[in-house]
Amino acid sequence: MGAMAEAIAAYAQPLIDETDGSTEQMNKALSISQVCWNIALLPEEKRQSSINSLGEALSMGDAELEDFQRSILLPMIRRHEEMFPKLHQRESIKPSHLESSFSPLPSAKSPKGKSQEPGRYDPCPCNSGRKYKFCCGRSPRAF
Ligand SMILES: [Zn+2]
Repeated sequence: MGAMAEAIAAYAQPLIDETDGSTEQMNKALSISQVCWNIALLPEEKRQSSINSLGEALSMGDAELEDFQRSILLPMIRRHEEMFPKLHQRESIKPSHLESSFSPLPSAKSPKGKSQEPGRYDPCPCNSGRKYKFCCGRSPRAF
């Protein structure tokens, strides 16, 4: 639990900065950030209902809840996404289990004609037996 508490304390820093430094306010800031943390971990479509039930639990009025949401919750959710992007990756990369089945295209298969050109001193691909340079690879000016 130590590392987790440290992470939450770091995450709570902006809220802690707003306190007067008293233990009571610090604890309040920490528990608010823990709530924000938990909501931030929810899938986006589940956050709102969780925020609403939080407002009920704290018996906040609609306006109060909206204000809390705008000034604390949403910035803290954004802060969570910025501080712990790894915890949010599963939302953006849904088919992560499919990733391993994609093998990168072998570069040899890339149909780039120019890079497929034989070396100037390689046997000509037309099978004439001559060096490419002196056969099909001849420069027009070298007649
Ligand atoms: Zn040739």
